[in-house]
Amino acid sequence: MKKRALALVTHPDDAEFLCAGTMALLGKAGWELHMATMTAGDCGSKELSREEISAIRREEASDAAKLIDARYQCLEFDDMFICYDRLSILRVLAYLRKIRPHIVLTMSPDCYMVDHEITSTLVRTACFASGMTNMKTQGFESFEPTPYLYYLDPIEGKDKFGNVIEPTTIVDISSVMDVKSDMLACHASQREWLQRHHGMDQYLIAMKEQGEMTGAKAGMKYAEGFRQHLGHAYPQDNLLLQVLQQTAQAV
Ligand SMILES: [Zn+2]
Repeated sequence: MKKRALALVTHPDDAEFLCAGTMALLGKAGWELHMATMTAGDCGSKELSREEISAIRREEASDAAKLIDARYQCLEFDDMFICYDRLSILRVLAYLRKIRPHIVLTMSPDCYMVDHEITSTLVRTACFASGMTNMKTQGFESFEPTPYLYYLDPIEGKDKFGNVIEPTTIVDISSVMDVKSDMLACHASQREWLQRHHGMDQYLIAMKEQGEMTGAKAGMKYAEGFRQHLGHAYPQDNLLLQVLQQTAQAV
């Protein structure tokens, strides 16, 4: 049976910025791919209503996922209201148990945006609780072992104080940069908004710049960086590195 990788991020386009290349490489390695966002990006427009922009962005995220043969789902949280509470933990846990991933990629616990940080904490708790049979999630059974959990680099590689966050695993995505760019370009509503405001294709430029910055840490053209969660009860070996040994590097 195929191994499963899940990129569970906050907004449509977060994964395309920060981990789509690694997902593409896992797909090439024969893994089943799942991509999910906590919200549909309902505050990502000044002109359209929440319902209108959400419908567009769900479609864009789904189109992007299809380019690497990944399945997409939105967990239907609202922008700016991702909370660490009982119902939110159970919603994320139920989705995790539905997918039963071996590797989970999620937002950095240190980032410029609270929704990103709370997503990270919810996913961390859901992974930890994946095998707890007394935590009931209707329709979805507990599973073991605990998934391998990796945090994406924060946007611009820094935390909210401006401190540089150093990745511990760097994946060379130079060979899949084209598909990563195509995936990000699927998010036309965001790309066009930035184009109007910056007068250039800032969306794709910023993504490539972050890829170059991470790549420079390991002598690669374009790379994505990750930190593995190595707390108690989580797997201690580096599965991402083992699977992508041709293209990944521990730092
Ligand atoms: Zn985001």
